[in-house]
Amino acid sequence: MANLYDLLAGGFPIDRDKPAFLLGDGSAVSYGELESGAAQVAGHLIARGVEPGDRVALQAEKSVEGVMTYLGVLKAGAVFLPLNAAYTPAEVDYFLGDAEPRLFLTDPAAFVAEARTAEPLAAAVPRADGDLASLIYTSGTTGRSKGAMLSHGNLAANAVALHEIWGFTPGDVLLHALPIFHVHGLFVALHCAFLSGAPMVWLPKFDDAQVLAGLARSTVMMGVPTFYTRLLANPGFSGEMAAHMRLFISGSAPLLESTFAEFEQRTGMRILERYGMSEAVIITSNPLTGERIPGSVGYPLPGVELRIGGGEATGVIEIRGPSVFSAYWRMPEKTAEEFTADGFFITGDVGRQDADGRVWISGRAKDLIISGGYNVYPKEIELVLDEMAGVTESAVVGVPHPDFGEGVVAVVIGAGDEAALIAACRAQLAPYKSPKRIVFVDDLPRNAMGKVQKNLLRERFGSLFMA
Ligand code: AMP
Repeated sequence: MANLYDLLAGGFPIDRDKPAFLLGDGSAVSYGELESGAAQVAGHLIARGVEPGDRVALQAEKSVEGVMTYLGVLKAGAVFLPLNAAYTPAEVDYFLGDAEPRLFLTDPAAFVAEARTAEPLAAAVPRADGDLASLIYTSGTTGRSKGAMLSHGNLAANAVALHEIWGFTPGDVLLHALPIFHVHGLFVALHCAFLSGAPMVWLPKFDDAQVLAGLARSTVMMGVPTFYTRLLANPGFSGEMAAHMRLFISGSAPLLESTFAEFEQRTGMRILERYGMSEAVIITSNPLTGERIPGSVGYPLPGVELRIGGGEATGVIEIRGPSVFSAYWRMPEKTAEEFTADGFFITGDVGRQDADGRVWISGRAKDLIISGGYNVYPKEIELVLDEMAGVTESAVVGVPHPDFGEGVVAVVIGAGDEAALIAACRAQLAPYKSPKRIVFVDDLPRNAMGKVQKNLLRERFGSLFMA
C-alpha cells in the first residue's frame, strides 16, 4: 500500500462536484474543493520545507480547512499531530516540546488561503505501510500524555475494515458533530465518509437544534454516549426523526444499558456500540446485521486478535492486529512495558470474552479498586446502582481508607437517601463491593469525548474516609 491519502481519495466520488461537507448555512463544500485544498496545502507545506516524516501540529476549532490541512499533511508525506482546542498554552508547550513539529498551525483557514498561491502537489509523496501518518497524544488521566504512533498501514487497515463492516455506501450521509482532534471524529468518521464518497452534515459541535435539523438529512450518526443521552433528554427528539436513519453508532466511552433501552423504546432502533482507543482506532464492534447486545462492545474486527491476559476469565484485554500502533513516540521503555513478548498490546481495559466471542468491558485496570485485599470492578457496582430508583448515572471509585486501603465510593447523579441506597446495594452485592459512601451530585466531570474523569472524582473525594 502507498500513502493513506491515495486510499482515501480513491473513495471520492467520480463526480467531484458532489458535496463532501453540508454546512449549517445551506452551502456545501464539494469533494473537488476538498481535493484541491489538500493538494494546495501539500504543495505549500513542501514549499515551506516540510519533509516526509516531519510533524505538523494543528490546534484549532473544527473546520473544513482543518480537514484540508489533515489531508494535505498526509499527501505531503508528513505526520499529522492534532491537538485539543481546549489545551492551555502550558499543555501545548509539552506537546510541542515532545513532538518537535516543523510547523504549528492555529489558523487553518488562513493557512489554506495562503496555500492557494502555492503550486498544488499532483501526486502524493510515496509512503510505506509502516511509515508514520499521525501522532495522537492519549488523553492520559495519569502521568505524561503519550504520543501513539499510527502508521499509514494502521489507519488504512482500520478504515477499510470499518467501511466494510458498517456497510457504508455512496448513498449514506454521515452526521458529523464530533471534534476532529481525536481518533473518533478524525479517523473513524472521516475515513468512513471518504471511502464511500459520502457527504457529511458538518456541525462544529453537538448542538441540540442543529443535530435535530441535521438528522433529517442524514442516514448514519456517530457519537459518544453523551450525544445519545442529550438526544433522549430533548422532548423534541421523536421516533419519526430517526425513522429514515440506517445506523446510530456509539463509542469512546461506555454506553449505559439504560440509554440503549430508552433509545430503542423511543426510536425502535438499537444503537451499535463499538470499542476503540487512540492506540488502535477501532478494536471491536457490535454487528451491523445480527444482534446488538447492550453492555457488550461486540466482536473483534476482522484481523484483530484479542485475548484476556492474566489467566482468569476477566482480566486486561490484549490485542494484536493491523491497526495496532507500533510504539509511543520517544518512549521506548513505556512501549516495552505495554506490549507482551509476543507482540500483543496491553490495553489497560478490563473485560472478558464470552463463548460466542463477544467482548464485555468492566472498567480500566487503573480504576480497579482493591478494598481489604479484594478486587472490586467499578462497572459491576455501577450496573447495580444504575438500576435503582432515583439514580440516573453512577461512577464508582476507590479512595484511601484507613482500614481497607481503599474504600468504595459511589458518586451518583440523582437524589435519594444514602443509607437506604447502601442497604439496597448490600442486598445485591457482597459487602466488600458495596459502596461505603454514596455522594449525590448534579453532574459528573467528563472530558471532551464524554468519558467520566474518575481521577477528578478520586481527588475530590480523596479524604472522605480520612477525616
Ligand atoms: P481514547 O484513547 O481517548 O480514545 O480512549 C480509549 C479508551 O476509551 C479505551 O481504552 C476505553 O477505556 C474507553 N472506551 C472506548 N470505547 C468504549 C466503549 N464502547 N465502552 C467502554 N469503554 C470504551
